Amino acid sequence: MNALQSVSKTILMGPGPSCVHPRVYEALALPTIGHLDPRFINIMDEIKVMLRQIMGTKNEITLPMSGTGSAGMEAAFVNLVERGDKVLVLVNGVFGKRMVEVARRLGADVEELEFTWGTPVDPDVVAKKIKEKNWQIVAVVHAETSTGVRNPVEQLGKLVHEAGALYIVDAVTSLGGIPVEVDAIEADLCYSGTQKCLSCPPGLAPLTIGERAISKLKNRATKVPNWYLDISMIMDYWQGAKRAYHHTAPINMIYGLHAALSVVLEEGLPQAYARHQEMHERLVQGLESIGLTLPVDPQFRLPMLNAVTVPDGVDEAAIRRALLDTYNIEIGAGLGPLAGKIWRIGLMGYTAQKENVDLVVSALKNILKH
Ligand SMILES: *Cc1c(COP(=O)(O)O)cnc(C)c1O
Repeated sequence: MNALQSVSKTILMGPGPSCVHPRVYEALALPTIGHLDPRFINIMDEIKVMLRQIMGTKNEITLPMSGTGSAGMEAAFVNLVERGDKVLVLVNGVFGKRMVEVARRLGADVEELEFTWGTPVDPDVVAKKIKEKNWQIVAVVHAETSTGVRNPVEQLGKLVHEAGALYIVDAVTSLGGIPVEVDAIEADLCYSGTQKCLSCPPGLAPLTIGERAISKLKNRATKVPNWYLDISMIMDYWQGAKRAYHHTAPINMIYGLHAALSVVLEEGLPQAYARHQEMHERLVQGLESIGLTLPVDPQFRLPMLNAVTVPDGVDEAAIRRALLDTYNIEIGAGLGPLAGKIWRIGLMGYTAQKENVDLVVSALKNILKH
């Protein structure tokens, strides 16, 4: 048996990837066609329309970047940051930290405003910080997957714009699970990923960019320092009557994304958000019934990513191992300062179903008894 033959179905209840919808698998298996074939261009065009709906935006430039969620993050910063720009990153977990790292590598003058992990970004503290300097960019993670905390992205856009800066929002984990209203929250650039609440394998990073950000991009003094992720060139591949070859789109992944977005829109966005919330409440109830607790204050909890406190004296890795070996369920460990202290149970997209919630609770109950 080779390594590929050992792959079997696993119930993915960690921080991503999530369970893939059967219609997405079907789409991935369609025949590969040429990337400038008119039929493929139609698929690209339909994806742009569906993405605008799901991201809540009228932005013309709304498309999937090739690469995982981190490619979306990298694209945000390489396109909008110029050397020496003052960048403020609001940090309350691993992904905020990653933004800092990405921006620093571009030679930006980066400051991080850190909040206790497990608590949300506080807009009052941000308002004060924003007055300190002439920032060019302010960035925040909507759904901080490392802690299970939801940040108040809707309260920050105005503050950022009053200060004349651009607003970058990471919606990798939030998109499809809670509302990401790009235009309403005034995000200038927002990116996501396919393997969280869109129930697609990892490989693409949906991204949208508004007028203000495009104007900064067009008026750069220097070229975007990353050829592959240069949105000013990728735009010409994704729009207009004549498409200019930039790089070959990952054809079958694009099929998969098309199917994934169709599934979300057929269910309906309000219905999808309600399902995530209901499954989250069911999970919390189940976990509490077996004596487990969640460290995040209920009002700031993400429905799709549940941090669970590891009880004293429990070997958290052994429990995850038993879940995988005995029940085919994958859950996540804590990252950074939360390693060993929490588990992360994901209810993302197609994973967020009653059977999965009930199974993980009864499995945890059995394993913890022994
Ligand atoms: C998963 C995730 C990323 C990174 O996505 P990859 O697909 O792992 O590259 C970025 N931001 C957040 C909030 C995430 O949850």
